[in-house]
Amino acid sequence: MRLRNKPWAQKLVQEHPEAILNQPDPEKKIDWKSRFDDFSKPLAIEIGSGKGQFITTLAKNHPEMNFIGIELQTTAAGMILRTKLEEGIDNLQLMCADAANIAMFLPENSADIIYLNFSDPWPKTRHEKRRLTYKSFLREYQTVLKDDGHLEFKTDNQGLFEYSLVSMNNYGMKFDFLSLDLHHNKSEIAQNNVETEYEHKFAAKGNPIYCLHASFK
Ligand code: SAM
Repeated sequence: MRLRNKPWAQKLVQEHPEAILNQPDPEKKIDWKSRFDDFSKPLAIEIGSGKGQFITTLAKNHPEMNFIGIELQTTAAGMILRTKLEEGIDNLQLMCADAANIAMFLPENSADIIYLNFSDPWPKTRHEKRRLTYKSFLREYQTVLKDDGHLEFKTDNQGLFEYSLVSMNNYGMKFDFLSLDLHHNKSEIAQNNVETEYEHKFAAKGNPIYCLHASFK
C-alpha cells in the first residue's frame, strides 16, 4: 500500500516528537521510559500499522498495556498520529521507520506481543528478503520479544501465509494457534479479533483470513 503524500501528515509528524519518533538514528538508544507513563506495563508492537485502525483500537481497549506502532510511510504514520492526538491515546507511541532494524530501536526481551497484520506480500522471489516473515526479520523479533512473548500474524494472502509458516517452522518457532478462516472460527481468539483496515476490506469481498500465533520457545 503506497499512500499519496499528504503534506499535513508530514507537518504533524514533525510537530510531535514526543509522540512519534521520525526515522530515529539506530545508533542512539531510545529512552522509552520517558515516552510512556509506566514502561513496566506489558508491551505490544505492531509492524506496518497502515492507517492505524488496529493499534489505536487495541490501545484504547487495553489501558493496562503499552503499544508501539511502527510504520514505514510518513503519511500513514501521520494518520495514526492524528487519531492518537485527537483521542488522547496516551499508552500508544509511534515510530516512522523500517522495522528491519527493530532490535536496534527496542531493548532486548522487552515486548510481550508483536503483531504483523496484512504485511505486504512481496510475491517475487527476488524480493523475499523484504517479507516481514523472512528469517532476518524473525531474528529481530526474537531479540525484542520476552522469552514468553509471541508473534501474531494475519493475512488474506495465501502465498504469504504458506511462506510464513515454512519460514517460521524452519526457524524453529512453535505454533500456538492456527486458523485458515479466522472469521468463521469459534475460538476465543477469533471472537476477540480486532479488525484492521485491510482485513475489513478483504473479508467483505469474501476472502478467508489466515491467522497464526507463534513463539520462539
Ligand atoms: N496493517 C494494516 C492493515 O492491516 O490494514 C496495513 C497493511 S499494508 C498492506 C502494509 C503496511 O506495512 C504499509 O503501510 C507499509 O508501509 C508497512 N510496511 C511495509 N514494510 C514495512 C517495514 N519494513 N517496516 C515498517 N512498516 C512497513
